[in-house]
Amino acid sequence: MTSRPNRIARFGQAMQQRRGLIQLIQWVVVGLYAFLLVVPALLPLPDYQAHILTSLTVFAEFVFWGLWWPFVLISMVLMGRVWCGVFCPEGTLTEAASRIGLGRPIPDWMRWGGWPFVAFLGTTLYGQLASVYQYPLGALVVLGGSTVAAIIVGLIYGKGTRVWCRQLCPVNGVFNLLARLSPTHFRTDQAQWAAHNQAVRNGDAVRMSAPDCAPLIPLKQLDSAGDCHACGRCSGYKDAMQLEWRAPGAELIEPPQPVRFTHYSVLVFGLLGIAIGAFSWSASPWFVQIKQLLAFWLIEHDLMWPLTTTLPTWILTNYPEHNDVFNLLDGSLITLWIVVGGGLLGAATSLPLLLGNWLMGGKATLSRLWHLSLSLIPLGGLGVFLGLSATTMTLLRGDGINLTWANDLRATLLVLACLWGLRLAWRITGEQLNSGQLGGGSTSRLIGTTSVAMACLPAIGVWYLMFWGW
Ligand code: SF4
Repeated sequence: MTSRPNRIARFGQAMQQRRGLIQLIQWVVVGLYAFLLVVPALLPLPDYQAHILTSLTVFAEFVFWGLWWPFVLISMVLMGRVWCGVFCPEGTLTEAASRIGLGRPIPDWMRWGGWPFVAFLGTTLYGQLASVYQYPLGALVVLGGSTVAAIIVGLIYGKGTRVWCRQLCPVNGVFNLLARLSPTHFRTDQAQWAAHNQAVRNGDAVRMSAPDCAPLIPLKQLDSAGDCHACGRCSGYKDAMQLEWRAPGAELIEPPQPVRFTHYSVLVFGLLGIAIGAFSWSASPWFVQIKQLLAFWLIEHDLMWPLTTTLPTWILTNYPEHNDVFNLLDGSLITLWIVVGGGLLGAATSLPLLLGNWLMGGKATLSRLWHLSLSLIPLGGLGVFLGLSATTMTLLRGDGINLTWANDLRATLLVLACLWGLRLAWRITGEQLNSGQLGGGSTSRLIGTTSVAMACLPAIGVWYLMFWGW
């Protein structure tokens, strides 16, 4: 990097030099987030005629679920985790709290690899039970609860770092996967790093103070956009770190670090399982039929308490003034639908992958399977985008905007995501072939790619039912 940095590297450098501006942006976002989260929860619920521009509550709902979340997901794919490093209010608050906190080291229990999946499952489930998309109190308890937890973790662990984001954030696992598709990333040039160290030893360069990387990434090895928050603080460090272009998804072909079950669980059982379960129950006539059957059975057996028991609003949706009350039967069925349905979807997605991994020949290791499964990231990410943007569409339709083209766009995006996945699978199996992991040649690659095509089908099937079938 002794040559003049190109435009994108200069952009990364500008991020490093404009820390004050980034901090200003961060605290403005914190203010907006707090306002849109707290104020609507204090106002009376709007009536059914309320629109985005006539009700602060509906406006906040539109901003959170219609704009914020869908476009945060898109930003991950386009720019890596810039959202985390520059805009996320939870990241800002947990880091600020950790500057004044106890500064304890990260405990072992927090390093457990299952947290990304468990935190995603817990938040998704709780969000559905509290109707996070529909009611400001639901948003306050789910998002606000997560923010309070982030601040508490910051007050106890780390010193000026983001232990929460790294270990417990409910969307860390999802963002980690999506950011790997990004065409931009901060990267360390190892040779330049070594050359700089040598120059310091020779007295030809001055020692630079290490940047405060909030998610605690080993900077010397930085080559993945998965954990990096793309905050820009390390740009130019040792003249070896900079923002660079790369082919979208290149990191999936040759992962800089081993792919683990934790990635697989978030992708196959989280994005392609639990998340689809959470989006589908309210659209499904099967859900209604199962509920009716169970309700009749309970009445016949004189078991009325599951039908008459309700819980406080912040646990289980309870808005009698809006004729929207979940009883224990509702809550249990939603939980079962999401957990069991999501688990079955994840299993149905896993089956062809397992079979393909076995039939590809060579040593059918699990690490080879985890690696191949990364081909499904485009479909998994798109599914969450489609589910969240359904809220955007509903709100815009409520404001009289014509969206008859929406289903054509959805179908096109689903096809493109699958094609991208197949291309990734073909390239991943090519890499596995080159590294001696496959038994055969092109036939093995074809088997692996076909298994990914089959693995797309369960998710595609549910999206088809949701947007066209039901
Ligand atoms: S490695 Fe750390 S300091 Fe560098 S951009 Fe990523 S998050 Fe920021």
